[in-house]
Amino acid sequence: MDFGTIELTPEQQEFADEVRSFLDALVTPDVLEHERAHGDGFNERVHLALGSRGWLTPQWSPEDGGAGLDPLRRRILELELQRHRVPDITAGTTNLVWTAVDRFADPSLRDELAPRVADGTARFCLGYTDPEGGSDIAASRLRAVRDGDEWVLNGAKMFTTGAQNCQYTFLIARTDPELPKHKGLTMFLVPLAAPGVEIQAIRTFGGERTNAVYYGDVRISDRYRLGGVNDGWAVLHGPLDEEHSVGTASDGLADPSVGRSFLRPLEVALDETLAWARETGPDGSRPVDDPSVVARLARVAVELEAGVVTPGPMGRVKGSLAIVEGAAELLDLTGAVGLLSPGADGALGDGDVDFAHRWAQGTATYGGTVEVFRTIIAQHVLGLPRAGYPGSKVLM
Ligand SMILES: Cc1cc2nc3c(=O)[nH]c(=O)nc-3n(C[C@H](O)[C@H](O)[C@H](O)COP(=O)(O)OP(=O)(O)OC[C@H]3O[C@@H](n4cnc5c(N)ncnc54)[C@H](O)[C@@H]3O)c2cc1C
Repeated sequence: MDFGTIELTPEQQEFADEVRSFLDALVTPDVLEHERAHGDGFNERVHLALGSRGWLTPQWSPEDGGAGLDPLRRRILELELQRHRVPDITAGTTNLVWTAVDRFADPSLRDELAPRVADGTARFCLGYTDPEGGSDIAASRLRAVRDGDEWVLNGAKMFTTGAQNCQYTFLIARTDPELPKHKGLTMFLVPLAAPGVEIQAIRTFGGERTNAVYYGDVRISDRYRLGGVNDGWAVLHGPLDEEHSVGTASDGLADPSVGRSFLRPLEVALDETLAWARETGPDGSRPVDDPSVVARLARVAVELEAGVVTPGPMGRVKGSLAIVEGAAELLDLTGAVGLLSPGADGALGDGDVDFAHRWAQGTATYGGTVEVFRTIIAQHVLGLPRAGYPGSKVLM
C-alpha cells in the first residue's frame, strides 16, 4: 500500500473545488436530518442531481450519460461525496447490480436501463436474503415457476434494503427444487411496481430502514431473467464477490475495504468525546487529566486507524470490530451524556456516541456476518479448508 500524498495538478484542484461547491449547495442540512430520521440511505433530490452531472456513473462516457472521469477525478468525487455524507446505500447497490445487468441481461433491457441508471431514475436493490435462508443465500426458497413467456414468483425476502426507493430488485429464486441447491437457482431483475409485490418497512436498532418484501403470484416477463435458467449462481457470483471484496483488483485509490465506511460514525463520536474530555468539569478537573482516560481514547484511535487501512475481507471484519468495541468504550467513558440520543437536551455532540454505538451493531451482520467473513478469510486469503462451527448452519 502506498501512503504517499498525491499532489493535485491545477486542473485536478479545480475539479475538486467544483465538486465541493456543487455538494455544499446540494447537501443541505435537511438532507442529513432526513437521513438521521429515516435511515433510507438515499435522497432522491441529491441522487437525481448527481445523475444530471453524470456523477452516478462517473467512469462512463458523456455519450452514455456518465462524466468520463479518469480514476483520480473519480476518487476526488468519491471522497467529496463521503465528506458531505451523501446517503449512498441505494447508489451502491445499483452499481453492484449493474455489473450483472450489463453482462447477463437481454440486450434490449440493458440498453433501456443504461441511460436510466446514469440519470438516476433506475435503481436496484438486493433481494438475496430469505426469511429462513440468512447467510446461506443458496438455500433460497422463493419459487419462480415458468408459465409460457412469463415467470410466476411466490415467497418472501427479508432485509431488502432500499426497496422503497428502487424500481427493480435483483432477486434470487429457486427454479428447480430437484437440483442440488446451488444449481436450481435463477436470477431476475423484478420490477417492484409489479402487481403482487408488497413492501413492508423494518427499522433497525441503529435507525436504518430496510424491508420485508412479499411476492404473491407476481408475474414477470422472461425478459427480466438474467443469465440462464438454473444458472443463477454464476450471475450472482460477480456482485457477491465485489460486495465481499474477494478477488477484486484495487487501483490503489479506492477505500481499502468496505469496513472503512463502517467507521465514519466512530470518527465523529471520537472527535466529540475528545472535545468532552478536554472540558473542565464542575470539580475543576478535566477527564483528559486522567492518564487512564487518555490511554483508553488512544486505544480507540489506534483501532479506528487499523480498521481504516486494513484491506479486503479482513478490513470488513476489522472495521466492524473497531466500531462495535470503540463505540462501547466511548459510551462507557462518557456515561450519561454519551447515552443521550440525537436531539436530546445535553447529548454529547448531536447524540453522536449513542448513534455510533447503535449503528455499529448492524455492521457485524449486513453484507455477510463477521463469522461468515472469517470463513471467507480462511478460505480465500489463507487458502485453508472450510471451517466447521459446532451447532452453526453450514454454508455449502
Ligand atoms: C440492516 C440490514 C440490512 C440488510 N440489507 C440486505 C439487503 O439489502 N439485501 C439482502 O439480501 N440482505 C440484506 N441483509 C441481510 C444480511 O445479509 C443477513 O442478515 C446476513 O447475511 C445474516 O443472515 P441472518 O440474519 O439470517 O443470520 P443467520 O444466517 O441465521 O446467522 C445467525 C448466526 O449464525 C452465524 N452463522 C451463520 N452461518 C454461519 C457459518 N457458515 N459459519 C459461522 N457462523 C455462521 C451468523 O454469523 C450469525 O451469528 C441485511 C441485514 C441487515 C441487518
